[in-house]
Amino acid sequence: MSLTTLITGANRGIGLALTHACLRRDDQVIACCRTPYQAQQLHKLAEIYPKLAIHQLDVTEPEEYLQLKEALAGTPIDWLIANAGLYGPPEQALGQTDYYAWQQVMAVNAMAPLRLVETFLSNLEAGDAKRIAVISSVMGSISENHQGGHYLYRSSKAALNAVLRSLALDLANKGIQAYAMHPGWVKTDMGGEAAPLDVEDAASTLLLTLERLDAASSGKFISYDGQQLPW
Ligand code: NDP
Repeated sequence: MSLTTLITGANRGIGLALTHACLRRDDQVIACCRTPYQAQQLHKLAEIYPKLAIHQLDVTEPEEYLQLKEALAGTPIDWLIANAGLYGPPEQALGQTDYYAWQQVMAVNAMAPLRLVETFLSNLEAGDAKRIAVISSVMGSISENHQGGHYLYRSSKAALNAVLRSLALDLANKGIQAYAMHPGWVKTDMGGEAAPLDVEDAASTLLLTLERLDAASSGKFISYDGQQLPW
């Protein structure tokens, strides 16, 4: 069965690698990014894979959701992957909080995934697989926070986890499953060069894990390799 998968932040990093991995498994991919005309890597993939469609979506711009909703009217979506993310300023120690930056980080990491689901809920209901994955981070786990700091990023991913949990509960009666996924520490612009995981490997493993998850895992926080993580 060929699936249709929508991915945000698909122009680089984990989003781009997830896009590639979905295309390799023959999905129809709706790859969303802020500036499609600059998304060279996506355009290269589109030359090889005709099932790739590139769309504009700045996840903090309500108007762009409406435009994309119109463009995708009547298109069933099987998998909705909210990947776009922002770490924010490099300094996030106590006493250095940039409150304006915090609003932006919350808007991208916590608020946008909910808007994405609200916007495309009818497309998701029309799909066969009916799955949502939000790309969270173990940095958002409160019980795994043994080092402190990282106030903006940690709080945004903890908020995202709370959003995901409610989504899973609210959508269960529609047969929609929803998971919060930690992608591992991955070599990307955000993860940095010291990260142990190659982005293609991490994305492929994450996708395999997603394929294996079932209703019993809906509403849970899961690592790319399938381990359940504590909130
Ligand atoms: P990158 O910084 O490499 O890429 C971030 C992506 O998000 C880019 O495509 C970027 O687009 C997009 N993005 C940011 N803001 C917006 C916006 N307003 N609208 C649309 N797209 C936006 O990060 P990664 O690939 O490493 O991270 C992907 C996800 O994985 C994030 O949610 C991150 O928090 C999470 N994660 C990553 C880890 C890692 O080790 N790398 C570890 C744990 C979680 P643009 O190019 O336009 O800026």
